Amino acid sequence: MSLAAIIGGMKPAKLIEIERARELVLAAAAPLDAEKIPLDEALGRVLADELSSPEQVPAFDNSAMDGFALLSADTRGATPESPASLQVVGESRAGHPASGSLAPGEAIAISTGAMVPDGADAVIRVEDTRRQGDTVAVSAAVEPGGSIRRAGEDIEIGAPVIGGGTLIGAAEWGVLASVAAVEPSVVRRPRVAVLATGDELRGPGESLGPGQIRNSSSWTVPALATAYGAEVTVTTKVADTPEATREALDQALGGEMTVICGGVSVGEHDHVKGALSDLGVEQIFWGVALRPGKPTFFGRAAGGGLVLGLPGNPVSAMVTFLLFARPALLRMAGRDPESVRTTAALSAPTSKPSGRAHAARCSLTLTSTGWKAELMPHQGSHVLTSMIGADALALIPTDAESLEAGERVVVELLPEGGVGSRR
Ligand code: AMP
Ligand code: MG
Repeated sequence: MSLAAIIGGMKPAKLIEIERARELVLAAAAPLDAEKIPLDEALGRVLADELSSPEQVPAFDNSAMDGFALLSADTRGATPESPASLQVVGESRAGHPASGSLAPGEAIAISTGAMVPDGADAVIRVEDTRRQGDTVAVSAAVEPGGSIRRAGEDIEIGAPVIGGGTLIGAAEWGVLASVAAVEPSVVRRPRVAVLATGDELRGPGESLGPGQIRNSSSWTVPALATAYGAEVTVTTKVADTPEATREALDQALGGEMTVICGGVSVGEHDHVKGALSDLGVEQIFWGVALRPGKPTFFGRAAGGGLVLGLPGNPVSAMVTFLLFARPALLRMAGRDPESVRTTAALSAPTSKPSGRAHAARCSLTLTSTGWKAELMPHQGSHVLTSMIGADALALIPTDAESLEAGERVVVELLPEGGVGSRR
């Protein structure tokens, strides 16, 4: 048999659709177990279970205004022309409650957030008063409960505060602090190994010989994995031999996910599939009706870890990571894999051959009718700079050949600022 015939026989039998590939990956990914960590380390992690508050917020009745705590009955009928005159018997400041309680005819000066003294049932704002030594003239009436924030008004003891599966961002971190959740229970971070295959790859500090290129996927892929909560345990460069590929994979397969870039296609020097098969990794799919990203491989290691073989081209590696590895990481973190998808209207007509979906880098602008997607000018899978400034991947469906401006497509959002946030 000729080499061409052998290679032909090694082609993916049938390309599967992106959505099917995604379903298969998600079916193999389950939420990880929980671990307790110090609150100081919880930013960017995912809350494992619904948090019910051990404390009430506010902890005590307090004033919403700077003014005077008093009995509302003492202000009945008060106007600027005929103010009520009350005796000032103390002060309640934030962190320094008044020492005594309040009787009819008395007022206690109070600051915003300070504890409402016993005996008072309302606060009059300072703008409606005039202080004269030990007395205060109140020029407006106030209802019972006026300008008082009640204890437990925001959060009652035992009330659910934050749902399980919530990413801990600034507000969530602050709420955890405000209910004294000193050791929140968060989802364990998936361990992800990233391997980059290719004899031609050189690091940024190495000199380039003839035919050699810079390795970029050992930066982009770990960055994306980290952005979605993974702990990247290994990043290794692998030579294009069956032995080196097998050995590197053997070392890497223990975690929740192994991502191997390049070497997954049908070339004579692509050893990933053979090595994975030797190591007992079960193939779930190989070949997706997608551009870029056709040779994407997905399988499961004997120990249960997910194995993704991504095409080597720098954009293809990022795109296929985002489309297939990211949903699995979100699922493992107990998060909604749909949370990074929305729809957008194309800003201009576009056309492509039928047969494969396109994942086109695009920028997004918000218009009065929703998101508008403008495709980046360079869509070559080797043009890594086309990812810079891109907000999303616009998914142009497999069968579509030409789309009009304004047609809506699904878009997969890129992490904010490249990888700044852990969405
Ligand atoms: P492969 O899938 O191994 O055939 O690689 C496809 C193309 O992507 C080739 O031009 C490789 O040189 C290039 N490539 C593979 N891995 C990387 C990497 N880690 N960084 C940058 N380019 C790569
Ligand atoms: Mg290669």
